[in-house]
Amino acid sequence: MKATLLSIGDELALGQTVDTNTAWVAAELATLGIHTLQHVTVADDQVALVRVIREAAAATPLVIASGGLGPTADDLTRFALAEVLGEALVTDDDAVAHVRSFFERIGRPMPESNTVQAQRPVSAAFIANPVGTAPGLLATVGSATCFFTPGVPSEMKRMFADHVRPWVVEQAAAAGERAPTILTTKIDTFGLGESEVSEKLGTLMARDRNPTVGTTVSGGLCSVRIRSENTDAARAEAELEETAQQVEAAVGDAAFGRNGATLEAAVQTLLIDGGHTVATAESCTGGQLAARLTANAGSSACMLGGWVVYSNAMKTSQLGVDTALLAEHGAVSAPVAEALARGARERSGADFALSTTGIAGPGGGTDAKPVGTVWIALATAAGVTARRANLNGSRDRVQDRSVKCALQMLRYHLLGRPLEGIHWLSTAEVATA
Ligand code: AMP
Ligand code: MG
Repeated sequence: MKATLLSIGDELALGQTVDTNTAWVAAELATLGIHTLQHVTVADDQVALVRVIREAAAATPLVIASGGLGPTADDLTRFALAEVLGEALVTDDDAVAHVRSFFERIGRPMPESNTVQAQRPVSAAFIANPVGTAPGLLATVGSATCFFTPGVPSEMKRMFADHVRPWVVEQAAAAGERAPTILTTKIDTFGLGESEVSEKLGTLMARDRNPTVGTTVSGGLCSVRIRSENTDAARAEAELEETAQQVEAAVGDAAFGRNGATLEAAVQTLLIDGGHTVATAESCTGGQLAARLTANAGSSACMLGGWVVYSNAMKTSQLGVDTALLAEHGAVSAPVAEALARGARERSGADFALSTTGIAGPGGGTDAKPVGTVWIALATAAGVTARRANLNGSRDRVQDRSVKCALQMLRYHLLGRPLEGIHWLSTAEVATA
């Protein structure tokens, strides 16, 4: 079955309130095997509401709306529904009693305006609201079943759980359908663009495939989302795992974890498994790299410590960076990144050291070294390697991506993979300004 979700309210249409109801309902419906065809957001405008309810009921056999059932002049959902149905509104005595008892429970007199909430189109039924004043409405429009719930998220969720979910389960049972099991998993990658990930996935992303595979991007991570649906629960699970392994094989080393496991957790596991230690020397990331390397329990088994050396003087006094190197190449350069990593490794005694030095912005950029130019170096027993990342966006974003690049650089090294696999990192030195 397919569904249309309506969110109703001026504040939603104007963007003053973010619509969280439809995202929640769509996710719930998905677990029940119902595909949401469309989300429609509409202002408190009766003409628009009438048209949207009609169109929704014509498009899908299930419509779930939230909002506009309150007692005030801008709450027009019940009037629009009556117009769609071509019916008068009647006052329902049970609903009056319900609204009145709500106010009695909270010990306040009922405002006269709340009696409008006891009105329903003749053929519609009330849905009780145990956690608020606005009852919901259930109506049949053409061949569609339409649930109207209050906009307040907690009230909408309660009504969904008490009435919509049981209705959907009952429909499936009446149709002799076994409710499908729907399982999802998310594989996070870092270092490739979304189009590169989708090219690697190829036919795994075919629209008619089950499990389905799709990509989303957030915080510099490209996530591959897999959704497996089957009336046989064991098959849903086996197919999910099979596809997850195919995705990991296709994407390769950029994939570092499933279902929210972090990049730093992946690095920490590799360090501890190999019996290795790490230290940090940070300029532009101001300690954020060290914070990630100590974010997980057990980090003391691999993280020795780090330096935040923001000024040139501190780079020299704390980590021995040659003043001549700073004068010749500038603080944001491959030689300085290398000297920082080398200094941190030597002074800490760690097996590995990571360093960051860059221009986080928004000021301080030049033509040769624009904002977002960051050098990251990794020192190992075999030597030091520096890579440049050309990042963009806000200061926060540049710092965050720098940290992720450094972590992925160490992870690739621990896996024995070439750093060329991290497309965000290049080797080219920038001319000194
Ligand atoms: P209403 O039932 O239209 O009076 O909505 C009551 C309140 O619930 C609104 O003022 C919003 O703060 C909130 N609300 C309504 N619809 C949504 C929605 N789709 N997502 C999140 N909050 C909502
Ligand atoms: Mg409203």
